[in-house]
Amino acid sequence: MAPTQTKDYYGTLGVKKTATAEEVRKAFRKLARKYHPDVNPGDKKAEEKFKEISEANDVLSDEKKRKVYDQFGFYSDNIDPAAAEAAARGGYGSAGYRGPYAAGADAASGEVPFDFGGFDFSGFQGGGTRARGAQGGAEAGGFGGSFRDIFSGIFSREQKARGPQPGTDLEYQVNVDFWSAVRGGVARLEIQRQETCPACHGKSIAGGSMECPECHGTGQVTQMGGRMKFNIQCPRCGGTGKVQNACSMCEGDGTMTKREPLEFRIKPGTRDGQRIRLGGKGNAGTEGGAAGDLYLIIKVGTHPVFTRVGDDIHVTVPVTVAEAALGAKIDVPTIDTHDGGGRTQLKIPPGTQTGQKLRLREKGVPSAAREGARGDEIVEVKIVVPKVQDERSKEILRELAKLNPEDPRAEMFREV
Ligand SMILES: [Zn+2]
Ligand SMILES: [Zn+2]
Repeated sequence: MAPTQTKDYYGTLGVKKTATAEEVRKAFRKLARKYHPDVNPGDKKAEEKFKEISEANDVLSDEKKRKVYDQFGFYSDNIDPAAAEAAARGGYGSAGYRGPYAAGADAASGEVPFDFGGFDFSGFQGGGTRARGAQGGAEAGGFGGSFRDIFSGIFSREQKARGPQPGTDLEYQVNVDFWSAVRGGVARLEIQRQETCPACHGKSIAGGSMECPECHGTGQVTQMGGRMKFNIQCPRCGGTGKVQNACSMCEGDGTMTKREPLEFRIKPGTRDGQRIRLGGKGNAGTEGGAAGDLYLIIKVGTHPVFTRVGDDIHVTVPVTVAEAALGAKIDVPTIDTHDGGGRTQLKIPPGTQTGQKLRLREKGVPSAAREGARGDEIVEVKIVVPKVQDERSKEILRELAKLNPEDPRAEMFREV
């Protein structure tokens, strides 16, 4: 049985920590009938589950092993049950399952990959110098650091154990000029992404192996905890004493940074800020982990005349006083170049004021979302006052004022 990997055996079997031997046996048999490989041929998950419950049963159904497990949160053939007994007598954990000991914090820091939830480590805080009664105090006196430190020292490296890791997503901003966004086009850019190493195919290892630097080939590491000595299966090599050589091409990363050109189509009507997702074009995963996605954030350029608001085009068009007062048919620019050279006729109604907005239906941007739909063009009228210099023009304007004596500010003054 693999001794180091620490699991919640009670949880695995779905029994309480106070369960009797009979309850453990029944729980195991019930689960075994459900997950046995004979019942689930070819089902990898069931097979894994069956292994887990078998391992849990192996420890919990054995009185001595269960005692060690209860004491330390894991079982190892290397731990002397007598040491567990001694620790229990010393008060380390003998208080029983007093609820989680900073289990959440441990999980969050990533230091300790297993749950200390069932243990009472209170006696180990502050290096065990607290007076805890004659016997307990004597036992605790030998500890230089907290109990948790010992375990985190052992297991923190195991956290880095390899396995399929999914690749991360990438995000790039793509500048698209005004016309390409309106009419569609092709955008080109160069991206930098992590690619699966071609030499090791993401496995990070090359052929051959070397002596494990952690345990120097013995397959075991020793940890001192005061008077307790733990011989633990080496977490780095899993007890084999050997580790495989890292791939020299990717230095064991399994991935390599690569710059690559990317070309993609811009749909007509693409909007500023739009996100385009290219599935699986992000960073490669390791050891068969799925690649991340590539997100392209579109930044649409501006135009000196047209302003885009969604699918609508806004344009400010100057008109003369006479055009605004009498009404006129004027040419306004549009984004269409195929009919009439990018212009269309707009009727200015008589009496149009400056700032007034006129709508040209379906002269806006083709919708990227709805096939065949188009936005509008919104024309804002801006009245341009003539710079009169000759006496004749001034005379006409004075005459015009006399004919139209209304005060444009009268209403404003009625309001104040
Ligand atoms: Zn490699
Ligand atoms: Zn080792």
